[in-house]
Order: sequence, then structure tokens, then C-alpha cells
Amino acid sequence: GAMIGILGGGQLGRMLSVAAARLGFRTHIYEPSANPPAAHVADRLTTASYDDAEALRAFAQSVDVITYEFENIPTAALDLLESLRPIRPNRRALAVSQERIAEKDFLTSLGLTTAPYAAVTTLEDLHTALARIGTPSILKTCRLGYDGKGQARLHSPADAESALAQMDGAPAVLEGFVSFTHEVSVIAARGLDGSVACYDPGENVHRDGILHTTTLPAKLTNAQRTDAVLLAARILNALEYVGVMGVELFVTPQGLLVNEIAPRVHNSGHWTQNGCAVDQFEQHIRAVTGWPLGDGSRFADVVMENLIGDDIARIPALAREKNAALHLYGKSEARPGRKMGHVNRIIGR
Ligand code: ATP
Ligand code: MG
Ligand code: MG
Repeated sequence: GAMIGILGGGQLGRMLSVAAARLGFRTHIYEPSANPPAAHVADRLTTASYDDAEALRAFAQSVDVITYEFENIPTAALDLLESLRPIRPNRRALAVSQERIAEKDFLTSLGLTTAPYAAVTTLEDLHTALARIGTPSILKTCRLGYDGKGQARLHSPADAESALAQMDGAPAVLEGFVSFTHEVSVIAARGLDGSVACYDPGENVHRDGILHTTTLPAKLTNAQRTDAVLLAARILNALEYVGVMGVELFVTPQGLLVNEIAPRVHNSGHWTQNGCAVDQFEQHIRAVTGWPLGDGSRFADVVMENLIGDDIARIPALAREKNAALHLYGKSEARPGRKMGHVNRIIGR
């Protein structure tokens, strides 16, 4: 089988490798840190930094296609890799999802709605932005934020200085606080032939900025469910996207707002492993290798719960539970806030 190169060896890279192996493919993981979760399931592992041109070149030459499990890959590394092998999803998907203002500009250019936003670097910018957007609002670093890191909430303009200090001088974006009733996400896929398939939207609950549970079905009217799927398809088509994408949405009485997009398999799509014939990981592998997209229709109600940090103490009890599928990432050290695994509970059986 063909060799698939995966940038990043975390749990997403690990689960992509497993899915690839099931379809007869081999995987080569590129990961700067030692002993990553994907190490023991991939066929090959390169441990090298994204500055290492020799290692990047050898990696690219060993694979047929390159994909990734995270969006913050340095541009120079991408330039080199792209000169040697196709990168799927493509560079434009990375460019818009790496930077929150480019992301929101792109989404609004498609006619989609986001939170009101303004670019902020200086305190003067922040006061100008606050005059337009007001409080409550959230200041976020434009790049590299995840799991709610690099964000500061503003309850009044008096919070401006302390919020800006938390950005450490990095370019930021002020977002108006959306008073959503709940959050949902669409896991969407687009194949090399341009066909699009979306999983049923899931409802997401966060704890301390980190995804806690995803519940299927989400509380949505039929019209909202259709809206969610159509807007996801619009995003994928506009990017000529190939692969799986996570689209995070706020549900409000006025309609759906797009929070952010992730050009990769997504934590809120883990439920598909036990709720669909073809899960998001296999779907991504199918897309990037040019296979037809698989059947992602949902056959069960599912609640996915992330196991974070000390939650690993619950594994013996979880292992005894009926109708519960455990997925563990093989991380040796449990730190607070670290994703160690997840459990998919099949509901109503
Ligand atoms: P992820 O791990 O999903 O990439 P992130 O660090 O990129 O997270 P966001 O998704 O931007 O962060 O925000 C995390 C959470 O904070 C959201 O899921 C939502 O609950 C809340 N949040 C973010 N932006 C807003 C907003 N403008 N209005 C209201 N709540 C928000
Ligand atoms: Mg994010
Ligand atoms: Mg998010």
C-alpha cells in the first residue's frame, strides 16, 4: 500500500495511522518531540524539528502524500514539503485556519456570520475595538491558541490593559462575546473528486476551555441541522478542500455563527468511531488518498467524553462499563489539562 506522511504524532496522528493501517496503507509520522502517542502504531517515525530541511526532504521523498494532525506547521517547512509531494488539505486551508483574522475574513467573505471582530496589537487598537464591539468580549492571540489558551475575557473597558498584557505582545483579535444557547460542530469531508459528506452535527460542552463532551444528536431543529451542513459544505468547496474538517458553531436564536474551523480530524468527531460505519479518521485517509468517501451516516446516539489528566484514575471503572468504548492514547504521563483518551458511550441500548 501507499505510504501516507503525517505531520504530528499526537493522538490524532495515532488514530489516523490506525485507520490508514486498516485500509492497507502505511504511515510515516514526522514529529519533533520524542516518543509521541503515534510512535508505536505508525510504520515509520522521524523525530526532527520543522527547521531540519534534510529531515523534511527525506520524509517527503519516503511518502506518496502528506497530511497533518495540527494546523500550526511553519510556512518554510510547508514550502519545502509542497515542492516534493502533494499536501492535503491544501495550503489555503492552513493559511486561513492558522490565523484568526484571516479565518474570519474568509468566513465573512462567504456570507457566513462570525462574532464581531477587530485586529488588536496596541492598547490604542484595543480601545478603538472596544468602542465598536463593547463588552463582554474576548481577546485572543491570532495564532497558536488551542484549548482556550491565549485568551482573555473583558467584562468592562477597565480590563483592557490586563487583557492585552496576557497576549505577550502577539497580534490579537477582539471578539464580541456571543450569547449562544449551545455549541455544535460539523465534521465535514470533501473527496478528491469534489464530493462532500458531513457527519451529523454534535453538541459540544467545554470545561475550563477544553472540550468535555460531544453529544449526538445535538439539540437542533431540522432547519438548523440543514443550515449547519450546508454552511460547512460551502466552506469546503470554497477552499477546494480535500480531507476532514471540523467546523465549530455557536447556536443563537438569530441563527448559526461560525466560531472557528480546524483543517483536520477534530476532537468533537471522535464519537464517529462508535457511531458510524466509517469514522472521521478513515474518512480523512480515504479523502487524502483519493478513495471515494465512505458511509458516515450515524447509527446510534453517542456521548463522547474526554479523559483529561487525572481522569485516567477512572479507567478501571470505565473498562467495566457496558456500552462504552474506551480509546486511550498511550501517554505515559498524566498532566492537568492533558488529553489522555476518550470514552464513547452508546446511548439507549
Ligand atoms: P480549540 O481547542 O477548540 O481550538 P481555541 O483555543 O481555538 O480552542 P476557541 O474555540 O476560540 O478556542 O474558544 C474556546 C471556547 O471559548 C469556545 O468553544 C467557546 O465556548 C468560548 N468562546 C470563544 N469565543 C467566543 C465568543 N466570541 N463568544 C462566546 N464564547 C466564546
Ligand atoms: Mg481553535
Ligand atoms: Mg475551538
